[in-house]
Amino acid sequence: MAEAGLYIHIPFCEKRCRYCDFYTLAGSRGRIPDYLAALQRELALRAAEPFWQRQRFATLFFGGGTPSLLSPQQIAEILDSCFAQLRFAERVEVTLEANPGTIDGTQMAKYRAVGVNRLSLGVQSFDAAELTLLERVHSPQQALVAAQNARYAGFENLNLDFMFALPNQTLAHWQQTLQQAVALAPDHLSAYNLTIEPGTPIHAAIQRGELKPLTPEEEREFFAFTIGFLEQHGYRHYEISNFAKPGFAARHNLKYWDGSPYLGLGASAHSFDGKRRFWNVANLRKYLERLAQGKLAEEGEEKLTLQQRMFEFAFLGLRQRRGIPLAEFSQKFKMPLAQAFNGELRRLEAQGLVIHEGEYLRLSREGVFLCDEICGRLAG
Ligand code: SF4
Repeated sequence: MAEAGLYIHIPFCEKRCRYCDFYTLAGSRGRIPDYLAALQRELALRAAEPFWQRQRFATLFFGGGTPSLLSPQQIAEILDSCFAQLRFAERVEVTLEANPGTIDGTQMAKYRAVGVNRLSLGVQSFDAAELTLLERVHSPQQALVAAQNARYAGFENLNLDFMFALPNQTLAHWQQTLQQAVALAPDHLSAYNLTIEPGTPIHAAIQRGELKPLTPEEEREFFAFTIGFLEQHGYRHYEISNFAKPGFAARHNLKYWDGSPYLGLGASAHSFDGKRRFWNVANLRKYLERLAQGKLAEEGEEKLTLQQRMFEFAFLGLRQRRGIPLAEFSQKFKMPLAQAFNGELRRLEAQGLVIHEGEYLRLSREGVFLCDEICGRLAG
């Protein structure tokens, strides 16, 4: 059985970034102790469920929000409880997301000492004007120092997160950010094309004409440049938005992409047991109330139909450089991939957008730029 992943959502942030549409709470740090008590209750309830008792967890990910608002002692207590109540693999990848504006070298060393072995820094840009535009709480200098401190603190697995195709961004500025990024030699880089989500302040600013988003052609140019630049510097483009030095692909994220089960704890966290996806209420008050009553805070669920499971398997496979594993698809769905999706994959292949490579079907160089459109065609 595939090993599982554990996700722990810490929804607190110092200040809300302009583009953010995650479930986060700015200025509510005082609620952290109550939240952690509720998390412990949720963990105990889930750990008593036979399905999660049977799983062996290979990864644990503190995401947010800003998990680096938690003290090393608080992180240690959560880790101790998880290791005591769930079954873990021998070598567990333990990632903590950190905001460069809320962490110093001493704190990093303490996280490392309590068992965090992968640090993910939300840098986003090394350009001061871009960080201001995004309303991040840190400066380029703080991000630089944080990345250096991570190494001094003993992190041998370091990820830096970036965003490109920002309103008004030039390719030259993005190139400078990438140059500074590779100079720090992180083991892993995530580079996301900024998505402007309705309801965010940045979306409103665009609607008012104060900011100009890039055109799809410009976005494509940025993406192509990113792939070429990072590959030249020894990073493998192993998933649409992710690049890694050999041996440093994010094991936790791979679980989302290869259909492994994952358990999400905390407000708004999502879980997947192989057939059913379910999620917690995205509301701190309700989350705390439910757990105080000794109940889970599950708010919704989706039981995937066979068609949905096939689509997800194909879609998540195509997002990865290796592609869709043909034999696994046939075995899982009792049908060869070529027969699924009304022959759409054959048409995509004829158009040169997907190609066979060994035992996989993957996006071609051109297909990589049309990933969303291709997946839309598979969805029918
Ligand atoms: S730090 Fe991350 S989670 Fe928090 S507001 Fe900014 S983008 Fe959202």
